[in-house]
Amino acid sequence: MQRIGVIGAGQMGNGIAHVCAVAGLDVRMVDVSDDVLTRSRAQIEHNLNRQIARGKLTDAEMQAALARITAGTDYAAFGDCDLVIEAATENEELKREILKQLVPHLNADALIATNTSSISITRLGAATDRPGRFMGMHFMNPVPVMQLVELIRGIQTEQATFEAVRGLAERLGKTISVAEDFPAFIVNRILLPMINEAVYTLYEGVGSVESIDTAMKLGANHPMGPLELADFIGLDTCLAIMHMLYDGLADSKYRPCPLLVKYVEAGWLGRKTDRGFYDYGGEVPVPTR
Ligand code: NAD
Repeated sequence: MQRIGVIGAGQMGNGIAHVCAVAGLDVRMVDVSDDVLTRSRAQIEHNLNRQIARGKLTDAEMQAALARITAGTDYAAFGDCDLVIEAATENEELKREILKQLVPHLNADALIATNTSSISITRLGAATDRPGRFMGMHFMNPVPVMQLVELIRGIQTEQATFEAVRGLAERLGKTISVAEDFPAFIVNRILLPMINEAVYTLYEGVGSVESIDTAMKLGANHPMGPLELADFIGLDTCLAIMHMLYDGLADSKYRPCPLLVKYVEAGWLGRKTDRGFYDYGGEVPVPTR
């Protein structure tokens, strides 16, 4: 594997492009606008500089990694890719439409992976012309820092596809965990109901944002509080995952908290919009409730 395509240059897409380029792979990144791509490239540069400051990378390695990343708005850029990783917004219809538009540009042997947090790999694979060469490759946020990649086979995924994607994850220095194709797989099946419960705790007035996050940090030894983590993931992504759990497992215990729904309706999506359970407009994040 030498050429990797990345669809979506948001926080996950730019992290995936970053780790692939540092590992010596050529990366083609596609998003809907040049503005998003410019911001994404600046973010990659910022994150690479942080790695230099921590002594994990040299300046020459950073320049070489940046030179390996090209960006644009046309899927034709994926024509010579060995693998394309889809990391666009967590919305099944959108992802199916992207896959439909993508496949005519790929060479016959190319593999496709999706970074979806919760959507059925089997269903997304069926939306392509190559379900045997399609699987889930679920990176964690922030990608350059987090050790884990969850690997998920759809019912049609071929063993050779799994081995190739596993090989890539290992080349990126990641540790894998294999999950079956059930809604939200392993990490988010466990994590998101906890975050949703934290939002209920806020909604019902059991505690303030600060009390809830402090309680879980100091009382359960979590490195981040659940509301801080929700803002970091993106509240739209959190809500989409809860919907997938609720619909996919048909169990009322997964019902999304109405307060989470309202925040997303208001456009308060967390860090990426400067407001969620915290306000990120100033020097330090300030709790909003
Ligand atoms: P994000 O909102 O930061 O980025 C999504 C990007 O997709 C945006 O830049 C958007 O412009 C782009 N996009 C939308 N439609 C597109 C199209 N038609 N073609 C190309 N690009 C398009 O979201 P994110 O947090 O990076 O999440 C992306 C994916 O990764 C989702 O499936 C999400 O569930 C998954 N994921 C997220 C996290 C997390 O913590 N945020 C962790 C693991 C996996």
